[in-house]
Amino acid sequence: MEKIIGILGSTGSIGTQTLEVVRENKDLKVAALSAGSNIELLEKQIREFHPSMAAVWDEEKAKELEVRVADLNVKIVNGMDGLLEMAVLPEMEILVTAIVGMIGIRPTIAAIQAGKDIALANKETLVTAGHLIMPMAKEKGVQILPVDSEHSAIFQAIHGENRKSIHKLLITASGGPFRGRKREELETVRVEDALKHPNWAMGQKITIDSATLVNKGLEVMEAKWLFDVDLDHIQVVVQPKSIIHSMVEFTDGAVMAQLGTPDMKLPIQYALYYPERRYLPGERLDFGKLKEITFEEPDMDTFLGLPLAMKASRIGGSMPTVFNAANERAVAKFLKRKIGFLDIYRIIEDAMEHHESIANPALEQILETEAKTYEWIESRWKD
Ligand code: NDP
Ligand code: MG
Repeated sequence: MEKIIGILGSTGSIGTQTLEVVRENKDLKVAALSAGSNIELLEKQIREFHPSMAAVWDEEKAKELEVRVADLNVKIVNGMDGLLEMAVLPEMEILVTAIVGMIGIRPTIAAIQAGKDIALANKETLVTAGHLIMPMAKEKGVQILPVDSEHSAIFQAIHGENRKSIHKLLITASGGPFRGRKREELETVRVEDALKHPNWAMGQKITIDSATLVNKGLEVMEAKWLFDVDLDHIQVVVQPKSIIHSMVEFTDGAVMAQLGTPDMKLPIQYALYYPERRYLPGERLDFGKLKEITFEEPDMDTFLGLPLAMKASRIGGSMPTVFNAANERAVAKFLKRKIGFLDIYRIIEDAMEHHESIANPALEQILETEAKTYEWIESRWKD
C-alpha cells in the first residue's frame, strides 16, 4: 500500500537516512521536504523525490531555491508559517520529525491536529511538551511512532503485549566517547574528541549530547511520555557496543530486547511501515564475531547529563524545557569553543536553579520559558 510522507529536516542525519529508506521502497512517496538553510542538498532532494511542497526556514534561501527549481512543480514556503503549512499538507499521511530543537514542536502539533501520524525523531517535542502532545494524539487518533533507536526497540519489544504488563523500561546507552573517564579528565577535552561517537554517526548536537549523557536523559524523559511509565520504572543500562537497542521487563520478570547493528534505517523503516516489517539491506549481526555483550552501570557522578535530566523530569512542568534549552545553548557554545565540556553541566545547573517551574505549562509558556532560558544564559555566559 502506498504511503505518502513528509520530512521536517530532510537535509540532516535522520532526514537523509529517511530518504535512503524511501529510495529502497517504491511504495513510499514524498509529499513535502524541509530544511533550515541547506538549499543545495534540498534542491537535489526535490529533483529526485518530487515533493509538491518544500519549506526553508531562511527566507532569503527560500527565495533563492524558488528560482533554482522554477522548472519544477513545487511550492516553496518559508519560516514558521512555511513549516506549519507543510505539516498539514492534505495528501501527506505521515510526518517524519527529523528537525533538531524545539522549533519542531509547533509543526508537530499542527500535523497531529490535521490527523497525520508522526514518525518522531525530534525528542525535544516530547521532552518539553509531552503532557500536551500525548493526549492530543490520543484525541485525534494519530499514532506517535518512535524513530529514536531506544524507543523503537521498546516499541518493538511491546508489540502485541498488554501495556499494563510492562514493569520496567531498560534503556541502553553506549556511554559515549568518554566512558570510563573521571570528572578531572573531562575539564580539558576538545570538541573533536566529543564528536567521536564510538558507534553511531549522527548530527553534531546529538553527538555532543551522547558524550555528556544528556541524550540519555532526554531519552528517559521521552520514554516516560511515549510509554506512560514513571521514572522509578525506567533504568539506564550501559552497553558499550550498542547491540541491544533497549529492553522491557514485564511483570512476570521476562525481559524482551531488540538487537541489531547500529543503523537508524531500521527504526525509521519500522516507524514508516508499522506494524509491518520490510526487507532492509545492510549489515547483520554476526554472533560468531560478536562473542560477548557487556553491561555497566552509568557513572552518574561524572556524567551529570543523566541525573540533571532526572531531576528536571521529577520537578516536571516547565523544568524539562529549561534543561533542554540550557543544554542546547551550552552545546552551541561548546561547539564554537567558547566554553569547556564541563561548563555544559554548569550552564544547565545554573539555568535550572534560576527557574521556578510552571506546572502543566501551555505551549506559549513552554516557548516563553525557552526564550527566557536563552536570555538568562546569554546574560551570564557571554560568548
Ligand atoms: P541534524 O543536525 O543532522 O539535522 C537537522 C535537520 O533540521 C536538518 O535538515 C536542518 O536543516 C533542519 N533544521 C534545523 N533548523 C531548522 C529550522 N529552523 N527550520 C527547518 N529546518 C531546520 O540532526 P539529526 O538528524 O541528528 O537529529 C534530528 C533530530 O532527531 C534531533 O531531535 C535528534 O535528537 C533526533 N535523533 C537523531 C538521531 C540520529 O541518529 N541522528 C537518533 C535519534 C534521534 P539544514 O541542513 O538546512 O541545517
Ligand atoms: Mg537514541
